Amino acid sequence: MTNSSLISSLERAVGAGNVFGGSSDLLVYEYDGSVDAAVETSKPAAVVLPQTVEQVAEVVRIARVNKLPVVPRGAGTGLSGGSVAESGGVVVALTRMAGILEVDYENRVALVEPGVINLELSDWVKPGGYFFAPDPSSQRACTIGGNVAENSGGPHCLKYGVTTNNVLGVRMVLIDGTAMSCARQCRARCNRLTPKLTR
Ligand SMILES: Cc1cc2nc3c(=O)[nH]c(=O)nc-3n(C[C@H](O)[C@H](O)[C@H](O)COP(=O)(O)OP(=O)(O)OC[C@H]3O[C@@H](n4cnc5c(N)ncnc54)[C@H](O)[C@@H]3O)c2cc1C
Repeated sequence: MTNSSLISSLERAVGAGNVFGGSSDLLVYEYDGSVDAAVETSKPAAVVLPQTVEQVAEVVRIARVNKLPVVPRGAGTGLSGGSVAESGGVVVALTRMAGILEVDYENRVALVEPGVINLELSDWVKPGGYFFAPDPSSQRACTIGGNVAENSGGPHCLKYGVTTNNVLGVRMVLIDGTAMSCARQCRARCNRLTPKLTR
């Protein structure tokens, strides 16, 4: 598949405004927080910013059919190169899936999309007297999806545990494009990221 036909199929999947294929747009996705040259940089073939789980699944299917590597990306604050593109691969940036969908104060559970910025969740629930405990010092920028992937934490984690201790369930897209949910101690309708809240 040529690069222009790849871009066209990705645009059909997520809309033209949600796909980057130009050289200068791709440049910034060669990096994450690990800018000390410890990580080799490479330019992806495309960056896609899906807005629904179904779009994520379709993008992953397109990449798989074309035998292209897929790299998920949140805010790109990671320090270990995890979100740095593979050469010729497809970066799936989740920053346009940034909705806080539901907050259940009684059960101290929030239902959020993966691109929600960590501190925004705490700010959102603050009026109710709650916060989301994992507090990496990058919390003004990093996303909950990135926190889950990296099992991030900060000073609150000494008392409340790291991200894994504060997430009850996730909805994920597997590399074959199948979407599935896994949850513990969670209501059936918690079918996306469900961070636990702390008072
Ligand atoms: C100034 C600074 C301070 C920091 N302080 C801390 C700290 O105190 N504690 C700490 O733990 N870390 C810290 N970090 C590291 C980093 O911020 C965390 O690892 C953070 O969780 C990364 O989130 P992100 O959204 O930027 O993810 P990214 O950097 O975009 O991605 C990180 C990894 O997660 C994967 N990923 C991202 N989103 C998803 C998704 N939705 N689904 C599947 N995989 C996904 C990526 O592929 C990559 O492997 C710091 C970084 C900086 C730059």
